[in-house]
Amino acid sequence: MLRLLAALLVAPLVLQAQARPRKIFISVDMEGITGVVQPAQLGPGGFEYDKAREWMTAEVNAAIAGIREAGSAEIVVCDSHGNGQSVLIDKLPDDVRIVRGFPRPLEMMQGIDETFAAAVFIGYHGSEWTAGAVRGHTISSAKLLGIRLNGAEVSEGIYNAALAGQFGVPVAFVSGDRLAVAQLQQVAPSAEGAIVKEPYGYHSAMTVTPARGQAMIRDGLKRAMAKLGSLQPYRVRAPIELEVGFKLTIDAERAAFVPGLVRSDAHSVKGTFKDMTEITKLLQVVSSLEAP
Ligand SMILES: [Zn+2]
Repeated sequence: MLRLLAALLVAPLVLQAQARPRKIFISVDMEGITGVVQPAQLGPGGFEYDKAREWMTAEVNAAIAGIREAGSAEIVVCDSHGNGQSVLIDKLPDDVRIVRGFPRPLEMMQGIDETFAAAVFIGYHGSEWTAGAVRGHTISSAKLLGIRLNGAEVSEGIYNAALAGQFGVPVAFVSGDRLAVAQLQQVAPSAEGAIVKEPYGYHSAMTVTPARGQAMIRDGLKRAMAKLGSLQPYRVRAPIELEVGFKLTIDAERAAFVPGLVRSDAHSVKGTFKDMTEITKLLQVVSSLEAP
């Protein structure tokens, strides 16, 4: 009797939980999009930027299609390249919400919270210290010479996995060149990947066609959604030691004026912070210093 009563009380709650769609967070960058190899595709005014925006948008749509083939899902798309306004938002499904524009506190992961079932990285690239990666850099190709968390050099993928991990959210999928995918899978070994380019160097790769890249992403997301329940978030041990390198020594000199940061060598500063949120806000400020 007691058990029956308990079942009656619990059943509606369980049904409600199942009826609520899963939430998936898509962070999209541009350097790892199929076909993208040079600045000519990466910003307003470049001869193929408009084309690259279409490829990028189509890859986001392919990801959404793959996610939804596996079941209904609420989706947030975080436009995370350049001016934060590269995705052609009128080409996305009506029920998707989009994060646009910079600055914003959580940068490439703005909008993430504990309610998401997984994070998905589309168009990601290798880190500053990944030799041979297409457009390999970390956060700012113009200003930064790499980022270390607890002593280990990280890519934007690893960094954003750690940010998602702070909220208990695992990374389910990554697309980009071979090196970008392999780098992320070092910390998220169960994440599915789509390798859309074989890199030859900073500005060259053997790429598949946009249509093929989109098909690979759609299939990859279908596989990723099938193992959602078994994915583990990537959690960085806290407090976190951040070390950030700057291309200009004068930027390291000025960053060391910030309380909590000290000079670790001519090009670098370091400090220890409580979590990835705090680090992400700080990094944006010290990576945007004006030339004196
Ligand atoms: Zn990037």
